[in-house]
Amino acid sequence: SSSSSSITPKEKILVTVRLRPLTPRELSKYDLLAWDCPDHNTLASTNLNLNLNSSYTFDRVFPPSSSNNNVYEQGARDVALSALKGINATIFAYGQTSSGKTYTMKGITLNCINDIYAHINNATSSSFVLKFSAIEIYNETVLDLLNPHSGSLRLLDDPHKGTLVDKLTEEVVKNIHHLTCLIATCEDQRQVGETSLNDRSSRSHQIIKLTIESSFHDESGCAKSLLASLSLVDLAGSERAAQTNATARFIEGSHINRSLLTLTNVIRKLSGGKKTGHIPYRDSKLTRILQSSLGGNARTAIICTMSPALSHVEQSRNTLAFATSAK
Ligand code: ADP
Ligand code: MG
Repeated sequence: SSSSSSITPKEKILVTVRLRPLTPRELSKYDLLAWDCPDHNTLASTNLNLNLNSSYTFDRVFPPSSSNNNVYEQGARDVALSALKGINATIFAYGQTSSGKTYTMKGITLNCINDIYAHINNATSSSFVLKFSAIEIYNETVLDLLNPHSGSLRLLDDPHKGTLVDKLTEEVVKNIHHLTCLIATCEDQRQVGETSLNDRSSRSHQIIKLTIESSFHDESGCAKSLLASLSLVDLAGSERAAQTNATARFIEGSHINRSLLTLTNVIRKLSGGKKTGHIPYRDSKLTRILQSSLGGNARTAIICTMSPALSHVEQSRNTLAFATSAK
């Protein structure tokens, strides 16, 4: 049998903002800092940044000096570990291209696998089976990062399991070293895509999915199992979802990324706390695939990454508008 703990709606979406340091390129152009982090929850514009809404509050604000470990501890850990307790979890990095999404998700992924294996190795009364899969969604095409030659994969609707990616490679993970190798394989594959089309990473979404099944005996000696997944998502650049009121027809012929736009609509609706009303999961591949890991019995962390530079203030404000709507 399987069971899971219940969670309150307020716990569902953890929203944090991470500023990266100025890059060497920004420094060489004498770019200036547009944002201050006066405390752990506040982001304020500096007096160089003439911003009407000059102060924002989030679950956590990470200044440029924060490490990947800090971001994991305060912005992802609780959500990630809920997957060991039978609750589906999703961690996203959202932000404009070059704001630090990939840097952040690499750090989160590494911390997650170390932490999950530490828990597994310490668990005396449960046994665990982990499975790994990874996809890239590019132009609403789903690709298997462990088997890139398989081409575009179809989505299937299973009455019990929800939306599944047909013929997706799923590896049973043998140990932490094996998991590290699988992740490296996916990174290499994404690099190959990058050189053949140089702005591919700004257009594509990468999803690493760990499925965790734990088996144990309850107080009365009955065999139990819990099944949940942890999805780690490096999103396309948020500049691809900028026009929020774009019509479907306009999206087709433009640079707008349907999956990203739909995801932002879904998150807005979920964070609005409405139990009823239509949530447009089915409008994109990304949201169909993540449906069972968003809302309902799921926990979500969104890390919004930003350049601290004055030259990027307009995109940063768009990111903050999304982050505010996700709270
Ligand atoms: P994105 O994936 O959003 O396009 P990247 O993660 O590739 O952005 O980051 C852009 C550049 O900034 C890379 O060179 C990356 O190494 C660097 N970078 C991003 N975040 C940080 C950080 N927190 N500390 C140091 N360097 C960072
Ligand atoms: Mg990237």
